[in-house]
Amino acid sequence: MPRGTHLVAGRLALDFANLAPATDHLTWDEFISFLEDAGLISAERAARLRPLLLTEPQAVDSVLLRILRLRECLRAIFSAVVEREPVPAAWIEPINEILRITEGHDEIVAFKGGWTLQFVAREGGLEWLLAAIARSAAELLIEGPHAPIRRCGNPECRLFFYDHSRTHRRRWCSMAVCGNRHKVAAFLRRRSTRRRDL
Ligand SMILES: [Zn+2]
Repeated sequence: MPRGTHLVAGRLALDFANLAPATDHLTWDEFISFLEDAGLISAERAARLRPLLLTEPQAVDSVLLRILRLRECLRAIFSAVVEREPVPAAWIEPINEILRITEGHDEIVAFKGGWTLQFVAREGGLEWLLAAIARSAAELLIEGPHAPIRRCGNPECRLFFYDHSRTHRRRWCSMAVCGNRHKVAAFLRRRSTRRRDL
């Protein structure tokens, strides 16, 4: 998959939940690339963070555990929201854990021709890398059970996305990928029925 194209969800926490959806595993390199693609860290910072895997393996290991735990927890939470099921308080704890240990402030930054608030974490341990993701998850959760969080209609995809559309009826993570695949499949089905009719 080309770099950056997996960021289709429209919200940072959903893109993070979508990260490497097919496996339970996530490498340090994949996580750093995600932060870079999402614009949370610069290319220079990414280049400084990647070698920590060799120079500080224990620190990286412990933060990777936290990363995986947060991702699993967000997947469970967002699935529950999509299914209109209640979210148990225990699932919120990994988010609060990160909010608790990361200090920072909000800054106004240019975004899509307008402005948005972005969380800027104070740099401490490696946990600060997760601060903006935890913050984004918290913002989604407090939108309540009617937040337009959806999953892609393609059963082989099932990526989460935030439905910004006016009608709230978006079906695909990306029209260019799953939407078009669906259209092509429907077209081929119609054509083969017509052929049988001849
Ligand atoms: Zn999809």
